[in-house]
Amino acid sequence: MNVTYLECAACHLEHEARRLLNLCRECGKPLLVRYDLERAARTLTKESLSGRRADVWRYREVLPVDNEENIVSLGEGGRHCFRPRAWESN
Ligand SMILES: [Zn+2]
Repeated sequence: MNVTYLECAACHLEHEARRLLNLCRECGKPLLVRYDLERAARTLTKESLSGRRADVWRYREVLPVDNEENIVSLGEGGRHCFRPRAWESN
């Protein structure tokens, strides 16, 4: 896993990534996941993407899961965008 730590979006306090936390322990604001992007880039390449599944888990290097066996998916992501009918003019 390429997660390095969790960072508070408001006060920037760093939190341990492997603890179950929902909000900053100091100010109660949401936490952002920070990644080692250089390490992620070693395996997340254009070439590697071509052979992967067509959902959000194709970008697993920048998702917070340690073990791929723990991935739970309903096939989210990787779908085509379309214009809702409400936006169409007659
Ligand atoms: Zn905070």
